[in-house]
Amino acid sequence: MQNKFDPSHPTIVTAFLTMIAIAIGTTFYLKPAAHSKASIPTLTEPTDQIALPPATATSDTFYAPILMYHHISDTLPAGPYVIRTKVFENQMAWLKENNYEVITYSQFYEALTTKTLLPEKSVVISFDDNNKNQYQNALPILKKYDYKAIFFIPTAYVDKREGVMTWEMLKTLVGDDMEIGAHSSTHPNLTVIPKAQLYDEELIGSKKILEEKLGISVKFFAYPGGAKSQSVMKAVENTGYLSAATTIYDPNHSYTENPYRVPRIYVGNSMENFVDFINGRNLHKSY
Ligand SMILES: [Zn+2]
Repeated sequence: MQNKFDPSHPTIVTAFLTMIAIAIGTTFYLKPAAHSKASIPTLTEPTDQIALPPATATSDTFYAPILMYHHISDTLPAGPYVIRTKVFENQMAWLKENNYEVITYSQFYEALTTKTLLPEKSVVISFDDNNKNQYQNALPILKKYDYKAIFFIPTAYVDKREGVMTWEMLKTLVGDDMEIGAHSSTHPNLTVIPKAQLYDEELIGSKKILEEKLGISVKFFAYPGGAKSQSVMKAVENTGYLSAATTIYDPNHSYTENPYRVPRIYVGNSMENFVDFINGRNLHKSY
């Protein structure tokens, strides 16, 4: 009697089983590939090629808006740097609904300097000036969404002025895995002060006290009032910072961009402007 599984005499049954095996094999082969493709940014390569993380950048520019906040308050008079709490919450919700991935400044810096790709819709959240209302109004919302942000702190006024976060509050931020950067000591225009003050007090002094008081390594800086010059940028580099954020408004970055001249995005109370700015439209529209 003929063995119907004899490979030298393939029958319809063996052909059918072979097709099933191929189908199963194809399914298992393709599924992980499709998943990997979905979890990394779109690449400018044929769709049949799979790039596994860490993917190397294929173009010179990348999109990663860094949002710049100052006050999150419902009691201060309206102004260009005062965001109402509900507006801030709506902005965080918008990021979630629109599939943005909130990354840390450290992750942004890593991608910039190693020329690797970030998730396609990455966004960084930053706060300047150490206003206490950031702790009171923004932090609970950040925690609700599990978003990490960087807080740039002018150090001279901690525990010395009303309306600013205390060292204890800053320790809480660190405990919540928020990042801390320096924003000078006394928040002067760094381009016009004596060199000794620039180095000793504003750059070295602010970094040192943050590191001592909070037990962290401070790697990043933000220019007070956005004021910078070539010599100030060089001083920030010379004093051990890895990168510094500016008030140059752009959601796009270049892999060749100076890490001491990192653009951010202004954020106001208008949701329409928020969406515009995050998409790189009308960046200098009046607020
Ligand atoms: Zn400031």
